[in-house]
Amino acid sequence: MIKKLAGVFMAGSLLLAAASGCSSVKEDSEKVEVVTTYSIIYDLVKNVGGEKVEVHSMVPIGSNPHEYDPLPEDVLKTTDADVVFYNGLNLEEGNSWFNKLLKTSDKDGKDAPVYRVSEGVEAIHLESKGLEKEPDPHAWLNINNGIIYVENIRDALIKEDPDNKEFYEKNAEKYIAELKELHDATVSELAKVPEDKRVLITSEGAFKYFGEAYNMNTAYVWEINSENQGTPQQIKSLVDFIKNGNITALFVETSVDARSMETVSKETGVPIKGKVFTDSLGKPGEDGDTYKEMMEWNTRTIIEGLK
Ligand SMILES: [Zn+2]
Repeated sequence: MIKKLAGVFMAGSLLLAAASGCSSVKEDSEKVEVVTTYSIIYDLVKNVGGEKVEVHSMVPIGSNPHEYDPLPEDVLKTTDADVVFYNGLNLEEGNSWFNKLLKTSDKDGKDAPVYRVSEGVEAIHLESKGLEKEPDPHAWLNINNGIIYVENIRDALIKEDPDNKEFYEKNAEKYIAELKELHDATVSELAKVPEDKRVLITSEGAFKYFGEAYNMNTAYVWEINSENQGTPQQIKSLVDFIKNGNITALFVETSVDARSMETVSKETGVPIKGKVFTDSLGKPGEDGDTYKEMMEWNTRTIIEGLK
């Protein structure tokens, strides 16, 4: 019954549309169509854009966004998108997948609505030999940088959809206040970790911005996700570091292969004390499924693990 009515209504509105020369009859087409490169930006955009945006996030949850092979659906969505958001700072560049996608989707022009959410963030550079000029991409792990991302998203949505300016401003203001509170709570929570325990060891060196913001030292198997992950040399160098220090906990990210860290654990006898979120949210309905949840999860896991 409902279906039948809907059919009649659709036919009616199609007729109306045809009569008035209006090309759009879909309810959905009134929403701003957004594409994001990965799940963390997806969540930030949803918090600012709410029901005014339809967001397609490309890199699947649990995968790392450094390298990716876009699907035909990603190309279609990017071609049709009103706004495209990416992290930048060397993130989506593992195999140049994002630049290639923009080209294929005809979004590589100077005036294309493609926005780098990390614009204005103070970059920390890589430290590996030969990579010192390259920025480290993981700026969002400092919540103050997350706030900059949100401001950039707000400004971009206003630019592309000025009719809803107040709506975006209100949402962003509320969300930024929550993030400020979370940043302060993270600072004071992590301050409880004793000075000699403040070493956060992960597979990828993703915690530089986090370490700087929350006063933690960091060490890793490999510095940035690429083809050279977990080479015998990288594992040996971390094993030596652990044997020379007072290390009692290792951590492993949800978006990397855990085998390297398992090897490090076996060779040093230091246990893996938990999973942390770096390059991906958790699955919807599970731990860490929003930016705030993942940051809270990381803080709790680090404090518990370093006890
Ligand atoms: Zn990463």
